[in-house]
Amino acid sequence: MTTIGKLLDARAALSPRLEALVSHGERITFQEYKEKVNQLANYLLDLHVEPGDRVAFICKNTYAFPIIYLAAVKIGAIAVPINTRLKPAEVRYIVEDCQAKILFYDEEFREALTSLPPCVEKVIRAAVGEEMDEHFKSIFEIASTKEPAATVTEWDTAMIIYTSGTTGQPKGVMCTHANVYAAGIANVNTLDLRFADRFLFVTPLFHISGMMFIVNALIRGITLVMAPNFTPSQLWELIDEEKINNMMSVPAMLPFMLEMLKTIDKDLFSLRGIVCGGSRVPERLIREFDDLGFSIIQVYGATEYTGAITYFLPEMDLNRCHSAGKGVYLTQIKILDPLTGQECPTGEVGEIVVRSDSVFAGYWNNQEETDKVLKNGWYYTKDVGKLDEDGYLYVIDRLRDMVICGGEKVFPAQVEDVIQQLDGVAEVAVVGVKDAVWGELPRAYVVKAEGAVLTEDDVMAHARRHLADYKLIDVEFIDELPKNSMGKVLKYVLRAHANNESPSKA
Ligand code: ATP
Repeated sequence: MTTIGKLLDARAALSPRLEALVSHGERITFQEYKEKVNQLANYLLDLHVEPGDRVAFICKNTYAFPIIYLAAVKIGAIAVPINTRLKPAEVRYIVEDCQAKILFYDEEFREALTSLPPCVEKVIRAAVGEEMDEHFKSIFEIASTKEPAATVTEWDTAMIIYTSGTTGQPKGVMCTHANVYAAGIANVNTLDLRFADRFLFVTPLFHISGMMFIVNALIRGITLVMAPNFTPSQLWELIDEEKINNMMSVPAMLPFMLEMLKTIDKDLFSLRGIVCGGSRVPERLIREFDDLGFSIIQVYGATEYTGAITYFLPEMDLNRCHSAGKGVYLTQIKILDPLTGQECPTGEVGEIVVRSDSVFAGYWNNQEETDKVLKNGWYYTKDVGKLDEDGYLYVIDRLRDMVICGGEKVFPAQVEDVIQQLDGVAEVAVVGVKDAVWGELPRAYVVKAEGAVLTEDDVMAHARRHLADYKLIDVEFIDELPKNSMGKVLKYVLRAHANNESPSKA
């Protein structure tokens, strides 16, 4: 085990001239990367940032992002990346909850700073490129590049990442240096990542995937190419120009990428894999990319696991691409019956429970929630799934979304998949409505596609053809589904609506 700062130093010593970061017209080698990190770390020390202090940053994908992250952790402070899509009140909640001392921001998120809590002693604008902020720039002209004086251990918390809040107020997930190192080792030993590869990040770096790929790049010696936004028309050009080998994506990006890809008549030989996760990747898309010669590497992960739990790798059996693949290097996975806590036999559905050195240290200031998910070193994911005889994991649904109707378990994701196939359905979400006789009855909230002529009876008839009767009892059309800033459906809002209650996230 080691600390993140040492990983940077080791990589800079081994590969000083290798390109480390590319963004906004800048190309930074690992030697320069280390020097800039040291400069910012020394500057933070001058601001009296001490081990354990929280350094928050609300920044888009630029080279400043990894530099801020590594500078904070190098002096034993805790990095707190903030989702740039949050509203000012949500940013305030996080900054106050973690009692951040320093806050870095990008100009376009200035609005989020309107009502900061008094704990924040200094805000620093971290603009780069043409808008380079004078103060930020001066740090890299004046501050010392020498190794900052700090004692950091692998058991110190390196970062706090707030969960997206689909189930309640965001919770601060604490990951130690040891967690991050274990997750990095698992990633680089599972994925086909090679020395001097070029990895593209167009999805936000503030998620666990971004925070981890910054570290994966140090461990393996990989160039990180960062772009602030996902622009489908420019993406393939960038992949071509920068000779990208791998990239991160989310399922919503894939249809746009596919459309563009079909119009390109040149070989993009450098690209070996597109990692995709955050929610289930539709099988159809995986196959369509495969037909065009590109591998979608589905990742199933959670912030509490410091990222990846399983990957579906290109060498795996494509006929099982509706699974999330197999556990990452050194991961243990078991399936437990949610009612009895007993381990389920192969093929049976239960809660997915996982263990490795990357299991997080707990929720920030929230022992009660920690105790619910962290037991004897195992992380209880609150997802339901099953393992097959060859160790492929199938993620079926979230445990809390499971509906129990007359003692039968209904997994909304299965019902949603069936309804989604009906023409005229744009989106669908299934939740349980309380019932005195049956316990709960599954109801589908359906958003119709524009101009679609569709009745509730059409949806019910389609469901009856494909599903057991108890899996869908009624249908209600709705203009749009309630979602959080990540686009994940807020089922607790729908449940409250269905049960005439006020929304409660528990
Ligand atoms: P909150 O805890 O506030 O609800 P969250 O669960 O969305 O936030 P994340 O850590 O961002 O927090 O997401 C992890 C969850 O996302 C997993 O537990 C799982 O439910 C879902 N998920 C991630 N990848 C996949 C995937 N490939 N297939 C299915 N589900 C996935």
